[in-house]
Amino acid sequence: MIDCHVHTRLCRHASGTPLEYVAAAEAVGVEVLAFTDHLPLLDGSETGYAMRWRELPDYVADVEQLRRRAASPEVLLGIEADWTPGGEAMLREALARHPFDVVLGSVHFIDGWAFDDPDLVSRYEEWDIDGLWMRYFNELADAARSGLFDAIAHPDLIKKFRFLPSFDPSALYEAAARACAEAGVAIEVNTAGLRKPCAELYPSQRFLEICRAHGVRCSVGSDAHSPEEVGYGWDAAREALLAAGYDSVVFFRQRAAVESGIA
Ligand code: ZN
Ligand code: FE
Ligand code: FE
Ligand code: ZN
Repeated sequence: MIDCHVHTRLCRHASGTPLEYVAAAEAVGVEVLAFTDHLPLLDGSETGYAMRWRELPDYVADVEQLRRRAASPEVLLGIEADWTPGGEAMLREALARHPFDVVLGSVHFIDGWAFDDPDLVSRYEEWDIDGLWMRYFNELADAARSGLFDAIAHPDLIKKFRFLPSFDPSALYEAAARACAEAGVAIEVNTAGLRKPCAELYPSQRFLEICRAHGVRCSVGSDAHSPEEVGYGWDAAREALLAAGYDSVVFFRQRAAVESGIA
């Protein structure tokens, strides 16, 4: 079992210390655990979405300390970074300052709106949902092509609150999968969707099949925001991957993909 997406209390909307996550991972049999807490926002705003810039060095040091322990699980140092159009150079520079094993790229914002925040869900009313889906998948493809990220987290997060398009989104999945394949970026099978209103994995089975057809590799993460969620939904993720034709997944060590069998 691997879990390549967990948060800590540093981001202000999760609970648990890195040590508590490691203990939880050990207890449920997670063999590879990547910490991927939220990188501070590039504009420096101090929100409830991410840690502060001044906290990043301590986050890195805490995880690095656990990483060096020769115990199970293997601990990896990662970060979840927001795709911010126009902020590529700044993000590249910030990421280069620390020895991350893995960088997850996430589209959480459209024009500054955190569309996955339950407190801001009323703002879907301002959008034509078909247009919003097209916009989201355009951002996702741009994120993949930026070369900044190893994997794209929760690749169809836009479905979270079930504001679904009137058309079959397969063409959007195709374009996203093609962008990931061409850029050599993995996508993440993220089990948090199972506990959200959409009540299914990110990505959908159809999207996962299209990724498989394009040769896109997959990572797996629980997106745990508390230690009890570590390893959550692994069986569901594995079954979805097998059904889509995958027999292995990848995790990242020093930004290089390592294959891990699931069959
Ligand atoms: Zn979070
Ligand atoms: Fe995220
Ligand atoms: Fe996350
Ligand atoms: Zn997340």
